Formats: sequence, structure tokens, C-alpha cells
Amino acid sequence: METISENLNYIQKQIAIACKKSGRKPDQVRLLAVSKTKPASAVVAAINGGQLLFGENRVQEARDKISLVAEEVDSTNVEWHLIGPLQRNKVKVAVNLFTMVHSVDSVDLAIELNRRALKSRPMPVLVQVNVGREPQKSGFLAEAVTYAIKQMAELPGIKVKGLMTIPPATDSAEEARPYFRELAQLAKTINGLKIPGIDMAELSMGMSHDYMVAVEEGATLVRVGSAMFGARDYNI
Ligand SMILES: *Cc1c(COP(=O)(O)O)cnc(C)c1O
Repeated sequence: METISENLNYIQKQIAIACKKSGRKPDQVRLLAVSKTKPASAVVAAINGGQLLFGENRVQEARDKISLVAEEVDSTNVEWHLIGPLQRNKVKVAVNLFTMVHSVDSVDLAIELNRRALKSRPMPVLVQVNVGREPQKSGFLAEAVTYAIKQMAELPGIKVKGLMTIPPATDSAEEARPYFRELAQLAKTINGLKIPGIDMAELSMGMSHDYMVAVEEGATLVRVGSAMFGARDYNI
């Protein structure tokens, strides 16, 4: 478990290097530690190393892990973000567990999140974009995002904070750069429309193999799993 805090320090240093290279400030980038498939003990080790922000992609797994973690450490300042697909029937639980949902991939989902969030508190969300136009991936195509966000702007229970993407798998991190650049440009264009209530401040992009490139292209949230916690035994 010592390696987890070492990995954390290393990743933070890499983020700082990428910030320096691109003239950004390290406090403009938040590291989301993706703990999916990993035990609560790994999360506890990361918290002991100073990490407070975690990402999960399944509601049930997150629910179990969050309560296990709370039994082990003071998790008052720990935040959880949902980064995976969200089914309609899990929205109610998700609203209570997560402080942000990165994976809003339909207006229907936004409407359901709005309905549930109105009963508790406004939910910050990111709109997922399928920048690589891959048929098997969720997310809006770039040309559909603006219209969808205009519809979401009418929903008082959710707050659209920006965009998220999972680009096509590439051999080198550098090959992901055009996708990150496209997402950043798209957010900028939408910001320019001055849609009431919409401030595209967040860009959730970059994973273990390409987070430095993502930071150079403007990421404000990098989602790092295996570089932090080690390879996963299985993928979900
Ligand atoms: C698993 C996952 C990650 C983290 O992937 P790594 O390559 O292990 O860093 C990031 N984002 C999403 C949406 C994921 O599902």
C-alpha cells in the first residue's frame, strides 16, 4: 500500500510538469483517482497519502466501497464522482453518493437526474462526448452536444459544468492529443454561446497513459486508475 502514496506523489509531479510545459497552474487540475475494481483498503491508502477525490464507474460497487471506507477513515472531505454509464433505475442512489456525474450521455438521463436531484440538491454534471465517433462508445457526437446542453440548461436540478470524453484507444499518448484538443475547442465554442446557467469550466479527459497530454490540452479533471492503484485484474 506504500506504493499507492508513491504513485500519487509521482502522478502529482507529472501533472505539475505538464502544467509548467503548457503555462497552466497545477491548482487548475484535479486528480480523480479511479478506484473501480480495487478494494476499500486501496482507497484508504490513497486517502492516507492525501488523495480526496475518487472515481467509480458502477453505482453498486461505489455504494459498498464508500461505506467500507467510511468505517476505516474520516472521510468527511472525500468526494466521489461517477464516471461510468448510469442506468435510469440507479439515478436515485447515484444522486446521494456522488458529487459529480461525468457520464451524462443523453437528455433523458439528464431529465431523470434533474427529477431526483430536485428532491435533494443540485447535481453538477459533465456531458460525455464521443470525440472518436466510435459506434460502441457512449456520448454525444460533437454536432449534437450544443442542442443537448441547451435542453439541459432548462433543468434546475442539474448544473452542466463541462465536458468529458474517453478518446479511442491509441498506442501513444501523443495520438490522443487531437481528441483532447477537439473537446477543449468544443467547450470553448459552447461557452461563447453564453447559454444562461452554463459555464463550461471543467474538462474531464486523460487517463493513466495520456493524462499529461490531456493536461497540456486543458484538462481540469484527469481520471487516473491503473497508474495509481496498479493494473486491474478484470476490466469493467
Ligand atoms: C477505468 C476508467 C478510467 C481509468 O483508466 P486507467 O487507464 O486505469 O487510468 C478513466 N475513465 C473512465 C471512464 C474509466 O472507466
